[in-house]
Amino acid sequence: MGTAVEFWLDLNEEQSDLREWVHGFAEQVIRPAAAEWDEREETPWPVLQEAAKIGLYGFEFLINTWSDNTGLSLPIANEELFWGDGGIGMAISGTSLAVAAIYGSGTPEQLVEWVPQCFGDAGDPKVAAFCSTEPEAGSDVGSMRTRAVYHEATDEWVISGQKAYATNGGIANVHVVTASVDPSLGSRGQAAFVVPPGTKGLAGARKLKKLGLRASHTADVFLDDVRVPGSCLLGGKEALDERLARAKAGGRRNAAMRTFELSRPAVGAQAIGIARAAYEYALEYAGHRVQFGRPIIENQAVAFALADMRMEIDAARLLVWRAAWMGRNDKPFTAGEGSMSKLKAGEVAVAVTEKAVQILGGAGYLREHPVERMFRDAKIYTIFEGTSEIQRLVISRAISGMQIR
Ligand SMILES: Cc1cc2nc3c(=O)[nH]c(=O)nc-3n(C[C@H](O)[C@H](O)[C@H](O)COP(=O)(O)OP(=O)(O)OC[C@H]3O[C@@H](n4cnc5c(N)ncnc54)[C@H](O)[C@@H]3O)c2cc1C
Repeated sequence: MGTAVEFWLDLNEEQSDLREWVHGFAEQVIRPAAAEWDEREETPWPVLQEAAKIGLYGFEFLINTWSDNTGLSLPIANEELFWGDGGIGMAISGTSLAVAAIYGSGTPEQLVEWVPQCFGDAGDPKVAAFCSTEPEAGSDVGSMRTRAVYHEATDEWVISGQKAYATNGGIANVHVVTASVDPSLGSRGQAAFVVPPGTKGLAGARKLKKLGLRASHTADVFLDDVRVPGSCLLGGKEALDERLARAKAGGRRNAAMRTFELSRPAVGAQAIGIARAAYEYALEYAGHRVQFGRPIIENQAVAFALADMRMEIDAARLLVWRAAWMGRNDKPFTAGEGSMSKLKAGEVAVAVTEKAVQILGGAGYLREHPVERMFRDAKIYTIFEGTSEIQRLVISRAISGMQIR
């Protein structure tokens, strides 16, 4: 251990097998269904069922990918899934945001109790939602208005407020909801709660119509005097009280930020999957489309664009893999490496899909070719899980040690 020759960029056998397996599902099941579910703007339950049946959707799959101590398995799987299709990819992986919150902040007992309920079972898959964003609290997580108040007599938390843009909001079996328990502490006075299936007072208010990722359900969620047992506070009351005391003394960290930090490289990998799909399609098209008596790729303007697309995708993937490895091996993100990976991958996905549309010309603008959908799907990656501007804030604060605004 620790010898000088240990740096290695080849995938090991399990990682290669995983990539091939997820790629096969993406090619044979996801791709043929992509255009239809994009048009329908609905969760593709039959695809989810197929994924659950073969073990690609479920707790066991996540455990397997998380148990890879290089950290690469989850980004590898995500890249292939989203290479298949962004919307269906998100329908399959949206649950993992709630699971990551339970994993990141919950006790082992909470993990065992709630995570299987997030996924349901192979015959009857369910989805889960992580609800943090609010109408008045997007990038500014600290201005969250949803309140959770503890009632000692009944050992219950009562949660009230409104959440915005929740993936799987209202259709989820399990909702993980963040709320302020001490507004005077801003983002440090927040906690995350599991809202069990069927709890009264939680409702998916409005299904949102979107530019892209349309096979993934997004909705506003209302919480009206939602009562959950004390055991639904992720991490437990004692840990919360200790954390609040630390925050009062000047420490920091909160449940939502922690969740985002853990999931950034995996989200970057999704963006890379979409970008790679668009690049491959454009490369193939450019080799066949003939104008002025030769394939358009024989023009440097087109070939160089493709060269840049490939280079940017590879660069983004290396940043994603580095951040995933750092996260899995408890390395401190001293330069905001997690944010770097998501920032780069998101911006590459937008630029590459736009270039792909351009390379297809008029055909690229039509729904008959998938790059039109990929272009729409890619844009979310500079917005959710922290906008590009917020990622730049994280990085610039990390490298400068200053409170850049
Ligand atoms: C399809 C979709 C799915 C989503 N899924 C979920 C989910 O499952 N759970 C969840 O909790 N949320 C989810 N979100 C919400 C998403 O995370 C937020 O939209 C995102 O964090 C941005 O917040 P906002 O929309 O309020 O934008 P705002 O915060 O209002 O930002 C608007 C603009 O101002 C810029 N800006 C804001 N503050 C600064 C600053 N200090 N410096 C520089 N620029 C700044 C932003 O970068 C952005 O360009 C989802 C959103 C979408 C669209």
